[in-house]
Amino acid sequence: MAARKSIVLVTVDCLRADHAGFMGYARPTTPFLDSLAEESLIFSNAIVAGAPTYYSFPAIMASRPPLALGRDALGLAPGEPCLASVLKQAGYATASFSAGNPYISSQFGYEQAFDTVQHFLGDEPTRVPDDGASIASPAGWSSRLNRKVQAVRQALGPLGKVYDELYFRYCQRITPAAKSLDSLRRFPAADVIVDQAESWLASIGDSPFFLWLHLMDPHGPYYPKEAALALLGNDPVAPARARYLNSYWNRSDIGASRLARHRDEVVALYDAGISWVDVQMERLVGSLRASPRWENCIFALTADHGEEFLDHGGRYHPPAKLMEELIRVPLLLRGPGRANEEAAAPSSRLHLAPTLLAAAQLPPPAEFRGRRYWDRAASGPASAGAAISECVAGCTNPFRRQGRLGSRVLAVREARFKLILQFEPPYDRVYDLEADPGEHAPLPASAQKAARRRLLEIARDHLRRSSEGRDQRMVLRARLRDLQLEWARSFPNRQ
Ligand SMILES: [Zn+2]
Repeated sequence: MAARKSIVLVTVDCLRADHAGFMGYARPTTPFLDSLAEESLIFSNAIVAGAPTYYSFPAIMASRPPLALGRDALGLAPGEPCLASVLKQAGYATASFSAGNPYISSQFGYEQAFDTVQHFLGDEPTRVPDDGASIASPAGWSSRLNRKVQAVRQALGPLGKVYDELYFRYCQRITPAAKSLDSLRRFPAADVIVDQAESWLASIGDSPFFLWLHLMDPHGPYYPKEAALALLGNDPVAPARARYLNSYWNRSDIGASRLARHRDEVVALYDAGISWVDVQMERLVGSLRASPRWENCIFALTADHGEEFLDHGGRYHPPAKLMEELIRVPLLLRGPGRANEEAAAPSSRLHLAPTLLAAAQLPPPAEFRGRRYWDRAASGPASAGAAISECVAGCTNPFRRQGRLGSRVLAVREARFKLILQFEPPYDRVYDLEADPGEHAPLPASAQKAARRRLLEIARDHLRRSSEGRDQRMVLRARLRDLQLEWARSFPNRQ
């Protein structure tokens, strides 16, 4: 009997497709992954099922749309079949090492079915202050002072801009000096996560395994490893400069044209985060290759969503727009017996978990909505399909249930045309990605009527199926978990 195949799944937070070398980026952010891509299946139009993190992972792990349990149920329901549960039942050793993102913690059901979990969150997962929205203002006296200054600034009119700039520089000067970029970084870097993974791999003997790593290096605030800056040929960035850039980039009181002043420097910091992921992937794959394991190992690398750098006037990855920089991500699948191949059709993230199971020769559970594309990636039905991405507009803090109940935004992405449908206030915009890859000008309502109609029908069908096919058992379980967590937060001493 052939040895069972192990799976390594690496999800990189905020890695947009067009910043990976094997997806065509000019800057050498990913030389190692580029070489791995030459023996991998590459999905060049991999579309996340939702953005940000909390609208993306239900599809990655459980092959279902993020809002399939209703807008107020977030994450995986307790006991919901997922990639980890299938593999655990098949006798795999399972481990998850995640660089401190609470939206994929036990609170949202992502730790179920893992034997080993390290999520760098401390005892109580809390909101990542800067996920899904801009980075939070500094707490305490400085933010109170800042609010007062904002009020004065508005009263000052044009002079306010000068005052604002001076104040901002003053704030930069009075914050305690940082010794290094390492001391400013908010999340563990990829080397820390890979260290953990390697120790775990050394502890499991010959067992087939499922190893999930979630890396936060490209996530804002952008404080990369200094070595990664050097790898990209950049001059060192002093900690004070990096902090200045991150604070400037986070300003909510200035418009895109002024933010653009420092855009390239901010992108250089972001790119260095990607570069560090690449270095650590070379290390991890290197040690797998040095053992017989690599012969039976499926390696998948992707992202939960992208990141915006003023492409459409915004920053970070708030749930709102579903433009390409947020929903198109890299997807590289390497496995024994697979040659290099490109699947260019839009591919929904729903298909990832069943495809990984197919690669491991395991059947998917009946609940998985996606299809298996391991053996027929380029020629299968996916080549004719559309990928759907969705989110709830404005839900930047899903720890507050109320925030989850806003209006849905839906994107239907075909190879050429893309529909973005918002319900409140209502609009539908169709883009021709061949003529307008940057999505700068939606087509007039009179143009491409057949395509518009087809996309709207796909959207309607998706909405109908997502409410009709709702698994009420899972909905109840997810709600019950939420209530228990709310109770525990409200009455911490009654545990
Ligand atoms: Zn994320």
